[in-house]
Amino acid sequence: METTRAHFIGGSPVAEGERFPVHDPVTGRVVGEVCEADREIVDRAVTAAREALPAWAALPVAERAGWTRRLADAIEERFEDLVTAEVADTGKPVAQARELDIPRGAANFRAFAEIAAQRPESAFHLPGTLSYTVRRPLGVVAVIVPWNLPFLLMTWKLGPALVAGNTVVVKPSEHTPGSAAVLAEIAAGIGLPPGVLNVVNGFGGTGRLLAEHPGVDAVTFTGSSRTGSAIMKSVADRVKPISFELGGKNAGLIFSDTDLDAAVEGAVRSVFTNGGQVCLCTERLYVERRVFEPFALRLAKRAQELVTTGLMPMISAEHRDKVLSSYVAAAEEGAEILAGGGVPGFGDERDGGYFVEPTVLTGLPEGSRVNREEIFGPVCHIAPFDTEAEAIALANDSEYGLAATVWTRDLSRAHRVAQSIEAGLVWVNTWFLRDLRTPFGGVKLSGVGREGGVHSLDFYSEPTTITMKLEQDDG
Ligand code: NAD
Repeated sequence: METTRAHFIGGSPVAEGERFPVHDPVTGRVVGEVCEADREIVDRAVTAAREALPAWAALPVAERAGWTRRLADAIEERFEDLVTAEVADTGKPVAQARELDIPRGAANFRAFAEIAAQRPESAFHLPGTLSYTVRRPLGVVAVIVPWNLPFLLMTWKLGPALVAGNTVVVKPSEHTPGSAAVLAEIAAGIGLPPGVLNVVNGFGGTGRLLAEHPGVDAVTFTGSSRTGSAIMKSVADRVKPISFELGGKNAGLIFSDTDLDAAVEGAVRSVFTNGGQVCLCTERLYVERRVFEPFALRLAKRAQELVTTGLMPMISAEHRDKVLSSYVAAAEEGAEILAGGGVPGFGDERDGGYFVEPTVLTGLPEGSRVNREEIFGPVCHIAPFDTEAEAIALANDSEYGLAATVWTRDLSRAHRVAQSIEAGLVWVNTWFLRDLRTPFGGVKLSGVGREGGVHSLDFYSEPTTITMKLEQDDG
């Protein structure tokens, strides 16, 4: 069934603007169309958010937390509709949408309701003075998000933004408008005050109009480092607060004392989950020389098995071509291809989709394009190391610094190495295990700021410090 994805402004759907098609990544077929927001439509959405702001910001935090809890409950009621929308847009396995993407959407609204409602306030007392802070929302926040985990990443920002008293205009990715459209229906269905949550659809140009709009007070963005840099420039004149979660070229370090079975399975997850289209995915694996060969062989075998047991397509023909071009570049630069390297043939309608083979490469110099640039596909390069210091240096030799994994049974080494890695997140003997209260984000090209727990609430509000002189009682 073909769908038309409208914008959502001031509590109502708005099916205006040019139309563009949405493709099913599994078959390449057009499955729907999306309305594209131009300057005037973006302006209407920002105006709706501004009008809703004073009343929303004035609500006690417990009442806003009540609304985000109701959103979470309603997400669970519309669970299967959200799964269907997310799977249709991304081609991801239904089981993954059921187990990860949609439950995390509900959890994002619930977690920030709890954290905000229980957050302690502080006052500072010196002889003769009393200082305390009040936190105010930023105002209207632009929420610009990518296509890889559309619902999870959007709600990760909406939960804290709304509970902190902001109103929002969301710009989902042009590839994945579905789950934002269902969320808009959910918001209307529970009677969320009109204008508190607005959605505009479109390409990067719409995102740019939104970020630059003078009625937008702050921008929270998840996406590529290049787009982050473009947004930074476009909001520089107004010095708008920004929170950026950007790309990665994440390293995994496998020490020879590790449980090799667990490390291989951990690497399979961290390299190939979601077709490698997760910012946290590992693209550079460094393995202690003693276990390099058995590890590489086993990882390559598991990668080949994935072709029959669990492949997810790339999001678009364009992205598939980009991933394939990195496979070609690897071969040209002299890589040994241990698994994959091309396009799988299914002999059915999936041959029209955007699949690439899970790929394991080795033998490339550290400075090669494939070892430097984020590919964002089901691929990793694997290289040996001899010492702990060398492993740390290799992991840190990157312009990015989002996440890393360390596989070892040596407790001291685990902490020593984890603390030496230049990244916002380090997992030891696991990957993608998250506590929503912890800070999340990256260093270097991987981002600006941290979200998660109180760090999100800090970004989505600004403190005013009030200091009062206490008069002495002379009597
Ligand atoms: P992208 O940067 O191409 O697009 C992200 C969003 O920005 C989309 O909605 C897009 O329409 C919009 N956009 C594009 N140009 C814009 C502009 N000039 N102004 C405003 N908005 C603009 O990223 P993508 O291809 O959708 O997503 C993949 C990237 O996202 C990868 O680099 C990945 O690492 C990164 N990512 C990071 C995280 C994280 O938490 N660090 C999470 C997921 C994805």
